Amino acid sequence: MSDDQGFAAFEEVGIAERDKPPFVRLPAPRTLFGLRAMRFTTLAPGHQLEPYLRFLAALAQAQDKLAQESVEPAIPALDEQRRRAAHAMPPLPREDLADDATTDAAFTRLIALMEPVAMPELARAALARAAAADGDSRHAMFAAVLGDAVPVEAVAEHIFAAAALQVVAALRTARLDAQLPQPVADGVCPCCGGAPVASAVVGTVDLDGVRYVHCSLCAAQWNHVRIKCVSCGSTKGIAYQEIEGVSDTIKAETCDECRTYVKILNQRKDPELEPIADDVASLGLDILVTEAGWRRAGVNPFLLGY
Ligand SMILES: [Zn+2]
Ligand SMILES: [Zn+2]
Repeated sequence: MSDDQGFAAFEEVGIAERDKPPFVRLPAPRTLFGLRAMRFTTLAPGHQLEPYLRFLAALAQAQDKLAQESVEPAIPALDEQRRRAAHAMPPLPREDLADDATTDAAFTRLIALMEPVAMPELARAALARAAAADGDSRHAMFAAVLGDAVPVEAVAEHIFAAAALQVVAALRTARLDAQLPQPVADGVCPCCGGAPVASAVVGTVDLDGVRYVHCSLCAAQWNHVRIKCVSCGSTKGIAYQEIEGVSDTIKAETCDECRTYVKILNQRKDPELEPIADDVASLGLDILVTEAGWRRAGVNPFLLGY
């Protein structure tokens, strides 16, 4: 074999891989929350939301501890997963989590991990209410988070429920075969059926420039072409809004068809960008874009109070 042929074969493999990025990237729950905690800590100093970002850093740290010490949660049998995927349904439906004893145990443990953490009085009172909640109330909290229907007057305690659910959901999704999930619908996680938090253009060598949407619940990522609405799939009427004078690594992708937007993070320019943390820290962009008439489609349990 000549050098030329060897080179050609190498190139072909490279191009084929670049044309077909994996549809799903599974979450890595043993590192995900620790990295998020670090990102919240980096973003906090001097930020308008500094006390809140510090609180969320502590919460992500507790999530990290919970993820490290948790055993792998049970998931449906492979046959059932396959059957669901073949019918364009998420193999690990998030609704199952509300009745799962693993969720309840994770919630109890997370509350215990947060007890010694310094936090504002309102958060402390919410933690006490979460700790005192009976089985039925807890179930209702989990169901509210999973159904994106958190009551406005009880956002604070639902933050703890959402944090526990994120850990269990990420641990479950991490157990999937990455080849199994199939597209479910626009704006729906192909692993758990959750809503997107944001999308990011990846900067790693193997997937340079490829866009992935991040699940707000299980942290799975699914491939989504660029200049296409994450919510409704439209490729018409897409525009990008940013705050002038502020870093241009986070933009709002607005869609004139469904009048919503989802943020897009440029990890090629800044590999430190973390969808959940940077979404909270870029709240100013939400204010700008919602005032201009677009509705936020990204879901982030830590922005519910804003
Ligand atoms: Zn998901
Ligand atoms: Zn749209």
